[in-house]
Amino acid sequence: MAKNFDAVIVGAGFGGMYMLHRLRGKGFSARVLEAGTGVGGTWYWNRYPGARCDVESVQYSYQFSSELEQEWEWSERYATQPELLRYANHVCDRFDLRRDIQFETRVTKATFDETANTWLVETDRGDKFVARFVITAMGCLSSPNTPKIPGLADFQGPTYHTGNWPHDGVDFTGKTVGVIGTGSSAIQSIPIMARQAKHLTVFQRTANYTVPAHNKKLDPAYVAKVKASYREMRARAKTKPAGIDFDINYASAIETPQDERTRKFEESWNYGGLGFMASFVDLLLSDESNKTAQDFVKAKIREIVKDPVTAEVLTPRNIIGCKRLCVDDGYWDTFNRPNVTLVDIRDEPIERITPTGLRARGQDYAFDCLVLATGFDAMTGALLKVDIRGRGGVTLREKWGEGPKTYLGLTVVGFPNLFTITGPGSPSVLTNMLPSIEQHVDFIADCLETLRAKGVSVIEPVEQAQEMWVGEVGKSASITLRSTCSSWYVGANIPGKPRVFMPYIGGLPAYIEHCNDVVAGDYKGFSLSE
Ligand code: FAD
Ligand code: NAP
Repeated sequence: MAKNFDAVIVGAGFGGMYMLHRLRGKGFSARVLEAGTGVGGTWYWNRYPGARCDVESVQYSYQFSSELEQEWEWSERYATQPELLRYANHVCDRFDLRRDIQFETRVTKATFDETANTWLVETDRGDKFVARFVITAMGCLSSPNTPKIPGLADFQGPTYHTGNWPHDGVDFTGKTVGVIGTGSSAIQSIPIMARQAKHLTVFQRTANYTVPAHNKKLDPAYVAKVKASYREMRARAKTKPAGIDFDINYASAIETPQDERTRKFEESWNYGGLGFMASFVDLLLSDESNKTAQDFVKAKIREIVKDPVTAEVLTPRNIIGCKRLCVDDGYWDTFNRPNVTLVDIRDEPIERITPTGLRARGQDYAFDCLVLATGFDAMTGALLKVDIRGRGGVTLREKWGEGPKTYLGLTVVGFPNLFTITGPGSPSVLTNMLPSIEQHVDFIADCLETLRAKGVSVIEPVEQAQEMWVGEVGKSASITLRSTCSSWYVGANIPGKPRVFMPYIGGLPAYIEHCNDVVAGDYKGFSLSE
C-alpha cells in the first residue's frame, strides 16, 4: 500500500533537512528518505582522518534561523567532520525533523504518472510513496567513485574509500598504507595518516595545488563579534561570486608590479584558505595572471619539500584553481617524512591491484591497507543511480545521455514536479554550498506555495527556457579558465562520462537575480497546468 505525501524529499543532508523544515512551515506533508542511518549527508559519510570544511565554519552554516546562529558555537575556524555532524544532528533535533525522516532507505526508482500527475517513489526496502512533488537533495559529491582498476577485489587487506569511511574510525598505527589520489580528501587525510602509519605510499596521477588552512581555535571574542553581525556578513557574502564573505582584490595580477604582487600572494598565503584565489580578480580569467599564482605556489613547494625530485613530482602543471583548490594542514611538509613515499603514476596508470598491494610502473608496492581517495561521480552520479522516469517513460539517464540539461539547475523538461536541489546547472559546488542550498530550498518552497494558491498541480520547464539556460551555463563556463582542465567539474574523472562543465559559473549574485526574475515573471520559462 503506497503512502501519500505532498512531497518526497530524497536525502537528509543539509539540503534535505532544510527542505523538510520549509515545507512543514508552509503546511505541506513531506517524507525524507535517506540511505544512511543518520542525517548530515557529506558529514555522515566522509569520516576520514582530517575531514573538515574549507569554507570557514561561521560561513559554512545555515542562516535561516537567527536563534540557531546565536545558540550554536563553532569551535574552530574550519570545523572538523565530527563537529559538523553534531551540528547537523543539533539542527535535526532542534527543528524536530527526525520524525519525518525514514533512514536506511535508498530510493531506487521514481516514475511520473501522467494521468494522476503524481510521482511513484520506490525504495530498496520495497516501500512505495505517492507524491505530487519529488525533491532531490541527494548531494553533488555523494556518489563515491571506485575506479575500475584491475584486481581491486583481490587485495587481501582492508580497502577504505574516503567517501564511505567506517564509523568507528581506522587506526593505522604500525600499518603500511597505500593511498590512491591527491585531491582534497587525500590532501586533508595524508598528513594525519602519515603521522600514524608505519609507512605511507601515495600514488599520484595529477599533482594538485593546495594552500595552507591556518586553522585555529576560535577566540570567544571573535565568535561574539560574528554573532553580533551575522546579518551583515551573510548579506556581504551574497554579493560575492562564491557566496563567501572574503575580500576580493579587484586588481589584475599581471598588471600589478612583481614585488607588490608577491607581497599580496604572501599575505593571502599567510592568512590561509580559499581566499587565495581572490588575491587578484583575474586569476581565473587570464592565463598570464594565473601563471603568476602558479609560480608563487611552485616556489613554496620547492621551499618546503626538501628532496628536489619529490618537489618536482609534487609540482602541478596545470592552471591553479581549475581543479578545485585544496586547503591543507601540513601537506607538502608530509613528504619530508622518512616514512612517506610518493609514486608518480601520471604517465602510466596503475597496472593492477595485487593481493598484497599494487603494481605500477613495472614495480610491486606492498601495504596492509589501501585507501581510495578517488573522489565522486559528481553532480549527476547520485541522481542517475536512481531510475527516474518522466513523461512517456523516458529516463533521466536517456535524457542526459550527452550531459545534463536543466532549467536553472532545478528542473528538467519532461520531468514535471521534480526539483533538484543544487542540480547541474546551478552554482552549487562553485560556491559556499550552505547559502546555495538555502536559496534553492526557498525557491522551491515558495514555488510550491504559489502553485497551491493558484490551484496549479503541474509545473514543468519549457524546452526553450531550458535551452536558454544551458546556453547561459555554457557561455559563462567558456569565459573562465576553470573549464579548461580534466576535472570532475567536466566529468573527466569518470570514464565515459560526457564532458560538460556542469555547474553554473556566473556567480551566486547573478544566479539569484536570474531566479528572482523568473519568479517576478510569474515563473517565466515554466508551463503551469491544473
Ligand atoms: P549531501 O550532504 O551529499 O547529502 C545527500 C544525502 O542524500 C546523503 O546523505 C545520501 O546518503 C543521500 N542519498 C543520495 N542518494 C540517495 C538515494 N537514492 N536514496 C536515499 N538517500 C540518498 N561544501 C562547501 O561549501 N564547503 C566545504 O567546506 C565543503 N567541504 C566538503 C568536504 C567533503 C569531504 C565533501 C565530500 C564535500 C564538501 N562540500 C563542501 C560539499 C558538500 O557536499 C556540501 O557542502 C553539502 O554538505 C551538501 O549537502 P546536500 O544535502 O546537498 O548533500
Ligand atoms: P577528487 O578531487 O576528485 O580527487 C580524486 C583523486 O583521485 C584525484 O587525485 C584523482 O586523480 C585520483 N584518481 C581517481 N581515479 C584514479 C585512478 N583510477 N588512478 C589514479 N588516481 C585516481 O576527489 P576528492 O578529493 O574526494 O574531492 C572531491 C571534492 O569534494 C573536492 O573537489 C571538494 O569540492 C570536496 N571536498 C572538500 C574538502 C574540503 O577541504 N572541505 C575535502 C574533501 C572533498 P586525477 O586528478 O588525475 O583525476
